[in-house]
Amino acid sequence: MKYLITGGCGFIGSHLAETLTSYGEDVSVIDDLSTGSLENVKNIYCNKKFHLFIDTILNCALLEELIKQSDFVFHLAAVVGVKRVMENPVDSVIINVEGTYNVLRYCTKYNKKIFIASTSEIYGKNENVPFKEDADIVIGTTKKKRWSYACTKAIDEFLAFAFFEEKALSVIVARLFNTVGPRQSDRYGMVIPRFIKQALNNTPITVFGNGQQTRCFIHVKDIVNGIIELIKKDEAYGDVFNMGSEEEITIKDLAETIKNITGSSSDIIFVNPQDIYSKGFEDMTKRVPDISKIRALTGFSPQFTIKDIIKDCIEDVTKKSQTR
Ligand code: UDP
Repeated sequence: MKYLITGGCGFIGSHLAETLTSYGEDVSVIDDLSTGSLENVKNIYCNKKFHLFIDTILNCALLEELIKQSDFVFHLAAVVGVKRVMENPVDSVIINVEGTYNVLRYCTKYNKKIFIASTSEIYGKNENVPFKEDADIVIGTTKKKRWSYACTKAIDEFLAFAFFEEKALSVIVARLFNTVGPRQSDRYGMVIPRFIKQALNNTPITVFGNGQQTRCFIHVKDIVNGIIELIKKDEAYGDVFNMGSEEEITIKDLAETIKNITGSSSDIIFVNPQDIYSKGFEDMTKRVPDISKIRALTGFSPQFTIKDIIKDCIEDVTKKSQTR
């Protein structure tokens, strides 16, 4: 099989590329290196079956050619991370909507199967956890920039299902919940790499608000294995699946756990996120997936606990700082 991964130098994309390459598959990647990096693919860079194209998915001529040459497309390229979305509001909308439209129409034109990575952000401020795939989307005002990400991903999903129904495109959508693991950058706002960096530097660990908001964190390896199993199922095409862990933790407990595991002397401080991000930030109080749908279809069952994930991330950061 020849796979194309858009965003394959990013955090999740690079793990997917590495796993597929380890199975001997032919993997092409298109990535503009906006949040991805060559460092992320350094283990497979010299593999003869790995092909890298540093460009944007808005370059239609290249994208069309790459899709034409592939058997299956994983569409992961997007502007991601709360911080980056808020700092680049125009790019967020254009890349996430126009880019996805490009990928969908070329997959349709050349009759290629496609997997689209969507997000738990879609559920927005809905507090009725755990979220089933058919739960309502509860999004804040358009004056709060954070919500543009959820809206663009919702448009992507609408487009995907429209192409499935009107044009018989074989497409699967998965909503990924807080995915973490080695290589995730602290630069775009994701909480675990930020807390680990703060803890290792013995600087204050910045919990937003009162820290009682909850998340469920899943290891990127569980996500990659889950995606690879999901695309094998014919019944999955034309449908949407939550992918995440059911282990819920408050952000305050997360900060304490990271402080304990690292043996850090950092203080845990409670800050107003509006002082860190520009105005227009709004947080979600709860985010827990109902994964019964994907579990019934593929047996999906995350293997890594939150402590395993934190330890893996710390090891990755420590290894990188030793090799510098
Ligand atoms: N968060 C925090 N301190 C930080 C960064 C994030 O307390 O320095 C909180 C954030 O408010 C949210 C949670 O951690 O409640 C997860 O944030 P992240 O941006 O990683 O993901 P998302 O909000 O998209 O779930």
